[in-house]
Formats: sequence, C-alpha cells, structure tokens
Amino acid sequence: MNMYLDIDGTMIHEDHWETENQAAAGLADFLIALRSHTTFWLTTHCRDGNPERARTIMKQHVPPELHPDIDRILPTTWDVAKTEGIDWSHDFIWFDNDIRGHEWERFKAATAHQQAIEVNLKQYPNHLIEITRDLLLNTKR
Ligand SMILES: [Mg+2]
Repeated sequence: MNMYLDIDGTMIHEDHWETENQAAAGLADFLIALRSHTTFWLTTHCRDGNPERARTIMKQHVPPELHPDIDRILPTTWDVAKTEGIDWSHDFIWFDNDIRGHEWERFKAATAHQQAIEVNLKQYPNHLIEITRDLLLNTKR
C-alpha cells in the first residue's frame, strides 16, 4: 500500500497552544509501522520533488535511529492540489489534517482502497496512536 504523509498538523502540532511545533504523540511508532509500505511526502515542504526540507523538519522531531525512516520517504510533485501528487494507479492511504473540498472531489472516482484519513491532533492528540493501532497494523503492504 502506498502511503502519503502531510507534516504540519498531521505529524507535528501546528496549533498555537503549548503543543505547537511538538511531535504528535506516537509519531515514532507511526513511522515504524509505515516501514512495510512505500511512503511519500505530501506536504507543502515538498511539492517540487525535493525532499530535503521535509527531511530537515522531521529529523528535528524524531530520534537519530529513526532518521533512516525519514530518508526513505519519497518526494512528490504537485502544484495546486495535493491529489496531483498521488499515484492513482495504486492503492493508497493519504494522511492529512487539512483536506480541501476540491481534493475530496477527486475521491469520488477513488476505489475502495484509495482513501484519505483526516488527522485531527487538536481534537484527538492521540490520533496517530489510534491510527497506528487500528489501521496501520492491519493494513497489508
Ligand atoms: Mg497540514
């Protein structure tokens, strides 16, 4: 299964409270659970096919032993809609805290194995923990 990852608000808190710019609870286990999947960036920090900025940001939030898990995440290229960066010929899960209406539109033509999960760390600070437990550990590669 291909996996697509947003960063801000999905893996790193972006709200203006005390958790701002902190890693989401369970981030390390989330990344470890992704090891059996082909994983891509789908973030404004990597929209031109260059993963360096996304890597630099994420490495500030995970221990050094997980840096290889960051380095293996593949870049995407997109312009207006993140859905442009998705390979629609494969099954996938896209994780993002802010999926726009025009991006949801694209899912009208999706298969049952092409899905977007809207992460909400503000309301559910343990959302990545729940996703890892309930979804990733039950998803075939
Ligand atoms: Mg975001």
